[in-house]
Amino acid sequence: MFKRFTFVFLVVIFLPVIFYAGWVINSLNTSEKILSQVYNQQLNAALITLNQYAWNQIDEWATAVDQLSGTNIDSLQEFLSRNPSLRLILITDSLQSSIRMVGASAVHNVFPAGLKDSLVLRRPVLSDLNRFMVLNNYRKFEPFLLPSGNESEKMVVLVFSSRKLPRRVLGFALDAGRFTREVLRSRLNEVSGEQFIIGVMAGPRSRLVYATREVETSEFKVTKPLWILPEYRIGIRLMGKSADEIIENRLVLNMILIGVLSIVLIIGVVYIYRLVRREVDLVRLKTDFVSNVSHELRTPLTLIRMYAETLDLHPNLKEEKRQTYYRIILNESDRLGRLINNILNFSRIESVKDPYRKSVIEVTQVVSAVVSLYEVQFTAAGFDWAYEPGETAPVLADKEAVSEAVHNLIDNAVKYSGETKWIRISTRTTGKETGITVEDHGVGIDQKHHGMIFDKFSRVATGLVHNTKGSGLGLALVHHIMKHHDGRIELESSPGKGSRFTLWFPVTGTESGQQNLK
Ligand code: ADP
Repeated sequence: MFKRFTFVFLVVIFLPVIFYAGWVINSLNTSEKILSQVYNQQLNAALITLNQYAWNQIDEWATAVDQLSGTNIDSLQEFLSRNPSLRLILITDSLQSSIRMVGASAVHNVFPAGLKDSLVLRRPVLSDLNRFMVLNNYRKFEPFLLPSGNESEKMVVLVFSSRKLPRRVLGFALDAGRFTREVLRSRLNEVSGEQFIIGVMAGPRSRLVYATREVETSEFKVTKPLWILPEYRIGIRLMGKSADEIIENRLVLNMILIGVLSIVLIIGVVYIYRLVRREVDLVRLKTDFVSNVSHELRTPLTLIRMYAETLDLHPNLKEEKRQTYYRIILNESDRLGRLINNILNFSRIESVKDPYRKSVIEVTQVVSAVVSLYEVQFTAAGFDWAYEPGETAPVLADKEAVSEAVHNLIDNAVKYSGETKWIRISTRTTGKETGITVEDHGVGIDQKHHGMIFDKFSRVATGLVHNTKGSGLGLALVHHIMKHHDGRIELESSPGKGSRFTLWFPVTGTESGQQNLK
């Protein structure tokens, strides 16, 4: 029954919960991935826009230089002065053997010499540029860095084929730093807006040339080379938290939420599981109870009937035997009476809130009366027994209930004594409590069962107890009685050594309270 429940519990609740959590985590991961892709695409798109802008600007200048290349030097000089990022304009002849330079004086002497050498080295490239122009009417740029010049302000030279003067190559030298800071700046700021930080880096060590806000070059999420400027890169990241950080935070938050939800779900399921388990246990206990009680009723009834018949059929029995049979009938009907009492009392305490009528009593008197009923039985059964009444202070209690409790303890002591038939019953007052102790040297109770034996229908299902029938109500009744008397039950017991039950009642006019039963 229980295995089936565990199986159903696993299949119907636990596995779906695990699968659901797995599915949610997986779909979260997928959506985070998509989100991250979207962010990266957005960053890439911004970089492409900027590259396009830089290229357009250079192309515009190239068109202007092409237009001016046929005119006099002054207009070229004037063009240079209007665009301070441009430092020099060069125009080759149709064979690319001689080069005219405008604005060279502004860039020191080393510069033109280095430039010439670079152009000579690139002759095949220059004729390619011309071929492109002739065949496709397409202006292709060949950018290169000038080998000389100081590191921080390297010059970029851009050469291209002239549309206006066939086979001539034109070009200009660009102060890339200045170009970035003065020409690209407004566009960089515009694209970055309030959302991104964009920066331009130069050289192999990614020196920051310009950034829309303070930033470390290592913080850029995406970087791309600036098409038109060799060794220049452009980088971008989200402002504030990076997309990755946001995604990671969201992922962690989602995970925590799923974790908490799963825990709540599992706690709920475990709670229901325990509730059902308790119910199932109770049903089992009740079934056991019916079979135990039937047995408990049948045994004394059979004995009573058997001895009554014997007495009836043999009127001439010896007096001694007769007395023994009467005693057995008396004891067995007592036992029957007590069992029925327990059951009735139990149903009474289940339905009535406080079924006890209390008055100030001397417990020793009550206990003495109960013990006197057992004397014959003890002796007949061969018990080494003793009753040690002590000086006791009066307590406020229901006389019947106390007597009932003592009956149950003594019954148990007899039932669970096994081979070692030894019983001690005593009363005493210590401090603010009056106690009744019933002690045996019987089978004892394992520590782990000490709590459970006071539950209704509960029985320890091992060893001698297994063979001794009982209703499982006796100690539940004792517990109920003590609880309603603000008392407590002290139990010392271990398997094989025997048990000692002490019922502690608060002495009238005092409040013992400390460890009372809840
Ligand atoms: P029962 O009708 O089974 O005796 P009780 O409520 O009186 O029901 O006792 C509950 C269980 O506690 C018993 O089944 C037994 O296992 C254990 N028990 C009670 N008293 C003793 C004792 N004196 N020695 C050993 N075990 C005891």
